[in-house]
Parts: sequence; C-alpha cells; structure tokens
Amino acid sequence: MKANEEADVVVVGGGPGGSTLATIVAMRGHRVVLLEKEKFPRWQIGESLLPSTVHGVCRLTGVADELAKAGFTKKRGGTFRWGANPAPWTFAFSVSPKMTGETSHAYQVERSKFDQILLDHARHMGVDVREQHEVDDVIEEEGRVRGVSYTDTDGNAGTIRAKYVVDASGNKSRIYQRSGATRQYSEFFRSLALFGYYEGGKRLPEPNSGNIFCAAFESGWFWYIPLSPTLTSVGVVVRRELASKIQGDPEEALTSLIAECPAISDCLSDAQRVTEGQYGELRVRKDYSYANTKFWRPGMVLVGDAACFVDPVFSSGVHLATYGALLAGRSINSVLTQSVDEDTAFREFEERYRREYGVFYEFLVSFYDLHVDEDSYFWSAKKVTDSTTTDLESFVSLVGGVSSGETALTTVPLAERYKNRSSEFAAAVDQVVENKEQSMVPLMKSSIVKHAMQEGAKEQVRVLLGEDAGLETPLFDGGLIASADGLSWSRPT
Ligand SMILES: Cc1cc2nc3c(=O)[nH]c(=O)nc-3n(C[C@H](O)[C@H](O)[C@H](O)COP(=O)(O)OP(=O)(O)OC[C@H]3O[C@@H](n4cnc5c(N)ncnc54)[C@H](O)[C@@H]3O)c2cc1C
Repeated sequence: MKANEEADVVVVGGGPGGSTLATIVAMRGHRVVLLEKEKFPRWQIGESLLPSTVHGVCRLTGVADELAKAGFTKKRGGTFRWGANPAPWTFAFSVSPKMTGETSHAYQVERSKFDQILLDHARHMGVDVREQHEVDDVIEEEGRVRGVSYTDTDGNAGTIRAKYVVDASGNKSRIYQRSGATRQYSEFFRSLALFGYYEGGKRLPEPNSGNIFCAAFESGWFWYIPLSPTLTSVGVVVRRELASKIQGDPEEALTSLIAECPAISDCLSDAQRVTEGQYGELRVRKDYSYANTKFWRPGMVLVGDAACFVDPVFSSGVHLATYGALLAGRSINSVLTQSVDEDTAFREFEERYRREYGVFYEFLVSFYDLHVDEDSYFWSAKKVTDSTTTDLESFVSLVGGVSSGETALTTVPLAERYKNRSSEFAAAVDQVVENKEQSMVPLMKSSIVKHAMQEGAKEQVRVLLGEDAGLETPLFDGGLIASADGLSWSRPT
C-alpha cells in the first residue's frame, strides 16, 4: 500500500470530461490528481464535435490553439437524408449569430489524438496526471466522499484523500453508484450501434466536405464522419427490436445494412474497410440513453457519460461532457475559495447541466418522427429552447451546443481579444512611427481601436437604455452567473 496522499480534487478518468474539469480547477491553483486506467493514446468513439466545445470550453481552458494546429477536419455543419424530404438537406453553424466568423465550425476528430491533446494540456496546466491507475472505490466517511482507493499497473494499491472526487469515468464504470444515484434509462432511445472505418470513401461537395452525414433508412440510420481526406468513420444505429440485424458475423451484418441504405452504399462504392490497427475492428456498442437521478452528493460530482448520455445523432456526447465539466469545475472552484456555499454552487451546476441534457433529449424525440420535413424539426428546436430567434437559427444554436446563451461558450473573452489584437495594434503604431505618418489612419483601422470604440458605444447604449449588451444573466430565477474569467460562479449584482 502506497502512502496516504492528499489533494484538493481527485478526478477519475482522463476522457474529455475528466481532463477539462481537472484543467479548470488547476487553473485556479488547486492541487488536482487525475487517475486514468488506460495508457493514452487509446481509442474511443465520439468523433464529431460541436463548436461550443472547440471555441467555448477548449478556448477557456487554453487548448483551442493547439487543437487548431492538429490538422483535424473542419466541420462546418451537418448534412441529413432524414425525414419526409427524400433529398439530403444541410445546415451550417454560421447561420447562428452566436457562431459567426472564426467560430462557425467544429472538428471531426480521431479521439485517440483529441483526448491525448486534452490530457497533455491538463498536465501542462499543473494537473498530476497518472495513467494506468484504476480507481477501485471511493472513500466515504460521515456521509461525505473523502477520496479514492486505486491500483496501478504494477498492482500497487494506494489512496488519495481529497475535498472532492470527480467521477468522469465514462459509461462502463460503476463508480457513479457511490454517489447514491440510480441510472434511469430512456424507454424511447434504446439502440445498438455497429461501426468500423473505411479508406477512400466519397466526400460531400464543397463547402460541405467536412460535414457529418447522417442517413436514415428502413432499419435505422448511418453516420458517415470524414476524419481525414481519406479515412471515414461509418456506423449504423438500429433500434433494440432490430438487434438481430447486427448479431452474428459483424462483417456480413454491416455489409448487408450498407446495401439497404443507397446513400451510404454510394459513398462507400470505391472504399475499403480498414482491417488493421486501432481502426481494424468492427465494434458494437449499446447507445442506450440515460440520466442519473443525482449528479452530485457532498464530496462527489459526476460529469460526462458517468452522469448522462443521449442518443448520438447530434454528436452531443463530448459537448455534454466538456460543458458539464465546466459547470462542475466552476462549482468546485467557488466552494474551495468559500465564495459560494456547496449547496448553492452544485445546485447551479446540476440545473444547468440537466437543462442542456433535457434540451437535446426533448428535441431528439421529435427528430425521430421521420414523417415530417426539416422545417418541422427547426420549429421543434425553437419550441424546446424557448427561443425568440427564427426556427432555423434556434435549431442551429441547439445542435451547435450554444442554446443556453452561456457567453463562455460563444464569446471570446475581452482579455483574449485584446491579447490577439495587441500585436496588430503594435504593428499599426510602428507603421505610424516608421512612415512618420501624419494621419492616424493605420491606428484607426486596427481592430483593437475599432473594438474599443464599439465597446464604448455599447456602454453608452447600456447607460442610456439600460439594455443588456452581452452581459451574463442568471439562467434560472435566483441563480448564479459565471465569473468574468468563466472559471467560477458569482452572484449577480
Ligand atoms: C455509438 C456512439 C456514437 C457516438 N458518437 C459521438 C459523436 O459523434 N460525437 C460526440 O460528441 N459523442 C459521441 N458519442 C458519445 C461519446 O463517446 C461520449 O459521450 C464521450 O466520450 C464522453 O466523454 P467522457 O469524458 O465522459 O468519458 P470517456 O471518453 O468514456 O472517458 C472516460 C475515461 O475514464 C477512464 N476510466 C474508466 N473507469 C476508470 C477507473 N475505474 N479508473 C480510472 N479511469 C477510468 C476510461 O479509461 C476513459 O479514458 C457517441 C457514443 C456512442 C455510443
């Protein structure tokens, strides 16, 4: 048995949920240990991301630039052969004003690379990351969780005591049960997925070549995700009643289901299935949707698949994991510095997290009505998000993960905007000095000056009209708002 160690927070699991939460808490200077049972890189499903993750949470944790350099396929939206309309229809994230310009895309990622980048970043931000350490149980004393026990790859057992244990251990682990929660499975979404990888599949015409393509057919639906110019992730989802279609030999099952769906068989007409390496296996996964009855208890909080999961057609898994991690990280940071009491901080976390889960869940129920066309889906999105924008904009905000209106998910923070623009500003000053310019035109053209003028104008509007020009407001009556840096909670003034 190793010595009894201590930390502020122990995180179980190094997927996107765990590494995001660990980073957010370490950024506030707390001692965080993350225990991950596997050695990274490791394969995982969940390859199509949303802009809220890429430009919201990942920018807040400081890993967005590294993701931008990794060469992942840019996903500008989605293309669907779905519903009453026999022709495929496409949406672009850029339709929503919350995802304009440089934030109007997400990525299609190889999860082994994406998860490694996030975990390495957590390390870089001061998290004590220990791979090949499997958490066996939580330590509970006097009605509160107070740490974990683990075993490392050499069979050494150890314990770590902490003020908080975060369960981010995904959907297979049973650690969530120690929160006292039960897992409630949806009666509506009970499906099975069979999937593999192909080289040489076709691409949608530009500008949609990086889109996820989802095609519904008699037995279920396919996803078609372009991971690189030549590699494609292909999976079929069938309802539980049709489970026999994916039993038996997986190769035969997938081949015959592809033949049932002309849109996908056409895309794969010149493609070869990958049969080696991490992508060589055909895999089957239950994708039953569930939510736990509780997301936290004193000393313990659940994020990502450990807390909830909803049908994958709109690629919400990593979004819910990283958004849940942001919310839980804020609550932990607030309680550790005693700026908000535990009950209030975690109620805010759970209410916001359940709202986001609920919006996807409710919308997806209407999306499985295949007898209506896309306009009806857009209208449903407006209804479930209670939005005042157009039907299409409401739909795009929802499936982009930004319907909560959280500014941290959409707005580049002021400090960062100035940082990005300061080099441009310095160049403009140099130009004035070097050219002995009489006019200040280069300075006025620089976006930092333009921006300062815009902010000034906004401030005037706010003073004159009392208008909220982009300020954070509570999502619920009497609730909290995010702090200026997005890393903890504040009380609204
Ligand atoms: C068929 C299907 C398709 C999907 N497609 C998409 C998609 O396109 N886009 C999308 O966003 N999502 C998708 N998802 C969902 C996505 O896979 C998950 O929601 C996402 O991976 C959750 O992240 P996480 O961090 O919660 O958990 P995970 O990514 O599962 O990470 C959990 C980590 O915890 C570790 N761990 C487990 N137990 C222990 C332990 N006892 N001790 C220490 N470590 C432990 C695991 O090794 C793992 O690394 C899909 C899911 C399914 C089923």
